[in-house]
Amino acid sequence: MASSSNQGNLHNSCNRYSDLQVDSTANNNDFTVECARDDEVENFIEGFDDSFSSSSGLWIPKVDDNKVKPYSGQIFRDIETCFKFYAEYGRQGGFDIRKSSQKVRDGIVVYKYFVCSKGGNHETSMSKESDSNSDLSLVSSTAGVDVRRRRRTVTKKCQCEAKVQLKYGGFNQYIISCFVEGHNHPLASTSGKQFLRINRTISSLQRRFILDAAKSNIGAHRAHSLYKSIAGSYTDIGATATDFQNWVRDIKLYIGKHDADMLLQKFQNKRETSDAGFSYEYETDSDGHLTRLFWADIPGRQSYEVFGDVVSFDATYRTNKYGMVFVPFIGVDNHWKSVTFASALLNHEDSTNFTWVCEMFLKVFQQAPKCIITDQCPAMKVAINKIFPNSIHRYCMWHIMQKFTAKVGPVFCAESGFMEKLNKFVWSSHLTISEFEQGWNSVLDEFGLSEHVWLNEMYLMRESWIPAFFRDKPMGALLRTTSRSESSNFFFNHFVQRGDTLSEFYICYESAIEKQIYENKKLNDGDRCIPKTITEKEIEKEAAQLYTRTMFYKVQKQIKASCFHISLAGQPIVADGVSTYIVRDKTYDEKYFEVQFSFLTNNVDCSCKLFTRVGYLCRHCFYCLGLWGVERIPHQYLCSRWMRNAEDRFCKSKFSDVMESTNVQNIRDMSKKIYW
Ligand SMILES: [Zn+2]
Ligand SMILES: [Zn+2]
Repeated sequence: MASSSNQGNLHNSCNRYSDLQVDSTANNNDFTVECARDDEVENFIEGFDDSFSSSSGLWIPKVDDNKVKPYSGQIFRDIETCFKFYAEYGRQGGFDIRKSSQKVRDGIVVYKYFVCSKGGNHETSMSKESDSNSDLSLVSSTAGVDVRRRRRTVTKKCQCEAKVQLKYGGFNQYIISCFVEGHNHPLASTSGKQFLRINRTISSLQRRFILDAAKSNIGAHRAHSLYKSIAGSYTDIGATATDFQNWVRDIKLYIGKHDADMLLQKFQNKRETSDAGFSYEYETDSDGHLTRLFWADIPGRQSYEVFGDVVSFDATYRTNKYGMVFVPFIGVDNHWKSVTFASALLNHEDSTNFTWVCEMFLKVFQQAPKCIITDQCPAMKVAINKIFPNSIHRYCMWHIMQKFTAKVGPVFCAESGFMEKLNKFVWSSHLTISEFEQGWNSVLDEFGLSEHVWLNEMYLMRESWIPAFFRDKPMGALLRTTSRSESSNFFFNHFVQRGDTLSEFYICYESAIEKQIYENKKLNDGDRCIPKTITEKEIEKEAAQLYTRTMFYKVQKQIKASCFHISLAGQPIVADGVSTYIVRDKTYDEKYFEVQFSFLTNNVDCSCKLFTRVGYLCRHCFYCLGLWGVERIPHQYLCSRWMRNAEDRFCKSKFSDVMESTNVQNIRDMSKKIYW
């Protein structure tokens, strides 16, 4: 009894798995299987109704249509038809049924029993397996060995005698030889019938809904209540939250067994259908386990062509149940938003893995970034020095600044005024190296922290993170801000979960990237409107036409400041076609800056180095251009990466047409067909 029940469970699972691959074969026989059932459902089913017959002391099912009621002598062409017939009778009458024992002679089933699901004595049958009262079911352990796991379910079997006995009548006929109508337990009430197993099946539409919900990190329970709000009521769903949950569990088991293979298969398909635009590399260990995986999709590769001057990579995301490290390669797009170029999953954070991943990056993208931002990881430093020797490598300031409270003391940081004073020297891009060094040391002296071990460590590596050392480095300021790290952290943390399988992880990843691309397109679209200007200057009007809205506001701020906050300090010095101005800036504590302007070439260069660091002109340059009546931004200062529709206009990648036409849909259709 128990073993047949377990086989049933396993059989059920197998059917469900085959459904995953081809929706059209949706299995409608779920109710044939004796499954563990939640208590709330059982309680709900047992409503009192008028089916009780006082003469027999039994409950007699009432059906809407008497034609569905079996009778002795009724003939069927096969066992399955009879089973479906009896199941429909149960559905209308308010009870679940299951297949029971059979007798076989010469390969032909001569007797077959269908019984009420409450038939049989649970305790007796289970005693063969266990001395406990709980239901057991076959579940595959992670080691691939089938183990018996207990479910927290109370059995409701009560030796109900209701049944149909089917006898082989020759000539491919089966005859009901015995029909027991009465049940020794209450039957499901009208409202309780929705919880009968036969009424609880998950449609292919619901399966898709659950998967879509999972992509957005919505669990089975919430998916169920969301589905309810769409369907109208719980009755209309036709499945309980537990059914939703069980289905998710089943799919996880299925995925778990083939996880890495499935992902690699999917990658292979993507590469084939994208005309090699999708790129991936991987390695496995001697046991065939995935150890490293690197991939770059078409949008990422296109973005890199335009926005690849600065790349940050970050190994702070632990992900999936194998504990692999997720390493996204991120840059900044023309709207000052994060854009993902490529990603990797690594089994360890060591220099061998990081070196491999940098090699793969270079192999795919062909060109090293100008500037690379990482957190302080010595293993990464080794890899970057080796593979990108000419790139500027900088530690992420945000990661370091975040550690201050923990290293120096939260109360001290909050109350002493130490952080305010130190921040002035740490964050400023307008200080020279010696100004920073003097400032840092004086603040540490003032607060008695000159001997602080960690602070001294940070000071020793100052060349790797302090802005004063990067003030004249190309695009050196792009990825250092708090807001960027926070937003990319939020972006990935939202989608990267522990405990996920690789396939699930990738589904979430794809969905996150799709969102990123969508946001970029939305912002591109918004750029069709030209923002308002606030000065009368032609140069501002031109900027409004050229830059993306986000970048225009940054440039506008500089132009506005050039009109109101900058003044000349002394007469210009003119030599060899170059005028040198000293200007005073009210917004920076009346600080002085030196601007050189060549009226032959329209070259303009300011000692604040804003253009070098971020790719647009500073207020001091705009001021001097204004003095010369220059009404257009000299073309050499129009960085294509900040322009409207930068990617469409400046990306020459041959993948663009492939991507935009049919293949995206093909890839999606294909992946859904094959796996989901
Ligand atoms: Zn019964
Ligand atoms: Zn300047």
